[in-house]
Amino acid sequence: EDIVPEHASSAIEAADSVEISSRERVVFPDTGQTKGDLADYYAAIAPLMLPFTAQRPVSLVRCPQGRAKKCFFQKHDSGSFGPYVHHVPITEKNGGAEDYLYVEDAPGLLACVQMGTIEFHGWCARTDDVEAPDKLVFDLDPDEGLDFEDVKKAAKDIHDRLADLGLTSFAMLSGGKGVHVIVPLRTGHSWEAHKDFARRFAEALSLAEPDRFTATMSKAKRKGKIFIDWLRNQRGSTSVLPCSARARSGAPVAVPVSWRELEDMTHAQQFSISDAKKLIERSRHKALQGWGFAEQALPDV
Ligand code: ATP
Ligand code: MN
Ligand code: MN
Repeated sequence: EDIVPEHASSAIEAADSVEISSRERVVFPDTGQTKGDLADYYAAIAPLMLPFTAQRPVSLVRCPQGRAKKCFFQKHDSGSFGPYVHHVPITEKNGGAEDYLYVEDAPGLLACVQMGTIEFHGWCARTDDVEAPDKLVFDLDPDEGLDFEDVKKAAKDIHDRLADLGLTSFAMLSGGKGVHVIVPLRTGHSWEAHKDFARRFAEALSLAEPDRFTATMSKAKRKGKIFIDWLRNQRGSTSVLPCSARARSGAPVAVPVSWRELEDMTHAQQFSISDAKKLIERSRHKALQGWGFAEQALPDV
């Protein structure tokens, strides 16, 4: 098999700089994984996760009492996360600036876990210029009862339509019910242009195949269809980041997959935080080299 050589990683040592309290606290009651297990997962996965997570404004899903109790999205904080979780001021609609959170290293991820974070969601832009989006995300949300085979087919069709436009795209199992199709882009276009492209792309698909796709959020109009959630591409929106754990039963994770591998997947929760070793091993396979990276610009259409 094609294996790429292992890269030296200092993630685990770096992680030592953040102390995790209550390591034995059960966070995932159905399967028993603890806060310590979650911290170990993030320490191990950090080298794979940070290229997609570092220097992006994040929203955290925190569940301090475990995933079965109250969880909340957190975008702002005045400093309780400690020195490894950084702040970037972002102008709000009302003209004022608010500090958003970002991390840049393994201690940053672990400082969030220490504060009860399970999931990391991120902007489609980086902290050095939050007005310059650098990717598109098409979040495929199937109606309840739809087969995962239908979701896979939809993702592949989106890949093909994007390829028709000259765009390379990547698939990610959400760790929930769906698949995200991710299109890395050079910066240079506005949020308006990104959102407009994403909306028109989703609308074109739903117009061409109204029985399979919808581009409107309404659950009523989703019956038996897949909602192509293009709204992830608005300024201020987030989507779950590659390698993030999910606050769902069984501690699943959001996992980058090659288009070829996607064919063999039977659901979107194929891997969990207990699979860190497996995930790191498979990341060295040729098929996953360069996942999430492409030098390309938003087309002028
Ligand atoms: P699934 O495959 O099950 O749909 P998902 O991560 O795509 O998993 P969605 O419900 O489609 O989940 O949500 C898409 C994104 O919308 C989330 O990843 C998250 O970033 C954002 N989001 C959802 N709910 C909230 C919320 N309450 N506050 C902030 N952002 C949210
Ligand atoms: Mn989704
Ligand atoms: Mn969605």
